[in-house]
Amino acid sequence: MSQFQDVIPVAGPWVTEREVEYVADAARNAWFSNHYEYNRRFEEAFAAYVGVKHAVSLPHCTAAIHLSLAAAGIGPGDEVIVPDVTWIASVAPVIYVGATPIFSDIKKDTWCIDPKSVEAAITPRTKAIIGVDLYGSMADWAELRRIAERHGLMLIEDAAEALGSEYGGKKAGALGDTGVFSFHGSKTLTTGEGGMFVTNDDHLHKRVMTLRDHGRPPGDKLFLNTEVGFKYKMSALQAAFGLAQIERVEELITRKRQIFSWYREALGDIGGITLNAEPQGTLNSYWMVTVIPDASFGMDKFALMEGFRERKIDTRPFFSPLSSLPAFADRPGSSAYMPAQPAGEFIAKSGVNLPSGYHMTPDLVRRVADALKQILKA
Ligand SMILES: *Cc1c(COP(=O)(O)O)cnc(C)c1O
Repeated sequence: MSQFQDVIPVAGPWVTEREVEYVADAARNAWFSNHYEYNRRFEEAFAAYVGVKHAVSLPHCTAAIHLSLAAAGIGPGDEVIVPDVTWIASVAPVIYVGATPIFSDIKKDTWCIDPKSVEAAITPRTKAIIGVDLYGSMADWAELRRIAERHGLMLIEDAAEALGSEYGGKKAGALGDTGVFSFHGSKTLTTGEGGMFVTNDDHLHKRVMTLRDHGRPPGDKLFLNTEVGFKYKMSALQAAFGLAQIERVEELITRKRQIFSWYREALGDIGGITLNAEPQGTLNSYWMVTVIPDASFGMDKFALMEGFRERKIDTRPFFSPLSSLPAFADRPGSSAYMPAQPAGEFIAKSGVNLPSGYHMTPDLVRRVADALKQILKA
């Protein structure tokens, strides 16, 4: 692993000969009547793994969220409840369709959307809830489902960071009315860039198939568009890569969990830090091993990252509250229902994602753990 003597990267894929061979084969053969063959096989394998009826391969997860909202007819005047602390891609599509994102607090232990905060944010305009399985941790889906049913809301599961995680025996992505995944190069399963939309709902599936191809119903050969849609398709080259990865998904998830267990062991003797949670009845696929030092260390995430940078270790800050970002400064109504002292505030101020890619070894994990001990002692 000499290439990591310099700086330990924060994320990275696991690529084998299988991916390379499938992509080479797609380059040669995935044309003419075979042009969708790798996409079809990737989608079928993916749907079978997640345990859902339909899967649609897309250029990225952002498209899958956009299509979920558009397929449900959510638009101007509608409100969508989202966690305040997540990657901006979970929320940007709410703005694309002209609806208003309403920020909710996250829970202290799972770092996922807090159902109590969701309930407080419901108005007559609320149409949907986007729950995010943050860093591989599962949101409180039973409670979110109960709220959605009581108020007639759509439930979108952003499982971009949670492939392979489980809740009550179901796989991440299968808990919402629609589920969405990302295959960005940093994610648990990658296609370079890519995403997947999943659902059990035939109507939503059909809407997504039409909307993602410029308003052409599936099978249209006459180029008679029935509406103005979007162009969201994954190339066969990416799908070939993804098929190789989903065929290896068990070994990918096992390695992710192993990397977390190396960290837990190496960090076991440091008091006053919190790592990713795995509550009863859930399984965490630990996309990113994340550490929250107690307030007593008086250390914010950017100072912590600087300490790691000096020791040649690349890290990432815990996502900042969206309501605090310049991007949402002109949308004050979005945070109208946030509690005065959100739990997410402290977590987002002090949390750091540690190197969690497939390049990690027990030795590299020890280097990171030793660095954390030094930084917190200083
Ligand atoms: C990565 C990510 C996305 C977006 O994925 P893209 O494929 O980059 O569009 C959405 N939500 C969450 C929580 C993510 O981590």
